[in-house]
Amino acid sequence: MLVLENVEKWYGKHKVLNRVNEHIEKGEVVVVCGPSGSGKSTLIRTINRLEEIQGGRILVNGTDSRDQKIDINQFRSNIGFVFQQFNLFSNLTVLDNVSLAQRRVRKSTKREAEEIAEALLEKVGLGTKFRAYPHQLSGGQQQRVAIARALAMKPPVMLFDEPTSALDPEMVGEVLNVMKQLGNEGMTMVCVTHEMGFAREVADRVIFMDKGEILERSKPEVFFTSPHHPRAQKFVSDIR
Ligand code: ATP
Ligand code: MG
Repeated sequence: MLVLENVEKWYGKHKVLNRVNEHIEKGEVVVVCGPSGSGKSTLIRTINRLEEIQGGRILVNGTDSRDQKIDINQFRSNIGFVFQQFNLFSNLTVLDNVSLAQRRVRKSTKREAEEIAEALLEKVGLGTKFRAYPHQLSGGQQQRVAIARALAMKPPVMLFDEPTSALDPEMVGEVLNVMKQLGNEGMTMVCVTHEMGFAREVADRVIFMDKGEILERSKPEVFFTSPHHPRAQKFVSDIR
């Protein structure tokens, strides 16, 4: 589903991804963790080309992300992305936020797009909020809208960059529950998060990054109790 081969990313002279190799299978839920600045966001942002890479290649469902022939909007619509800051359109209702891309990129009719949007909003527990604007919602609700919006394009893979770290603690659970449900339904997911409970319950694997490299890949029960790499050991003891 997702293949990264010798991926390199530089900011000027600063190398932030150092020949990263990774295979993520269809239906896998992978949690990425590591210290601040280790390259977690950069790694997942390269997958949908929010960041360009300078070396190596990335295949999404067999399509080379740097293939000149692909349409970048079509390519991105196959990869759902959920940000720490929800990035909703503040001037649009919840329903319009979730239906917009279908109409723009997929050329769906208003009715088709809204039917899908309504079903997804029901699924994330926001069936009563179709007409609300983002500022009228809590952070947890806004993030669930953002997840519904990403799902509206029916992407085969979803990427999450610390989706709960901007939330008040009491709202973390409602967002993680939506993510858990997705994982249990077989969605392929790559999640940058330090939420151990989520990782233990849903993740098939944990990837630990430091200084632009993947230093460890473990089952969550191993990673959070007895990681192998010394830097992973330090990281886990710091977050516990
Ligand atoms: P955090 O846990 O704080 O979110 P991270 O693991 O997601 O950290 P990245 O944001 O991927 O880390 O950053 C990796 C490195 O790249 C850091 O050294 C960072 O300073 C650098 N970096 C990130 N974005 C840029 C940018 N736009 N320009 C220059 N350097 C950048
Ligand atoms: Mg980050």
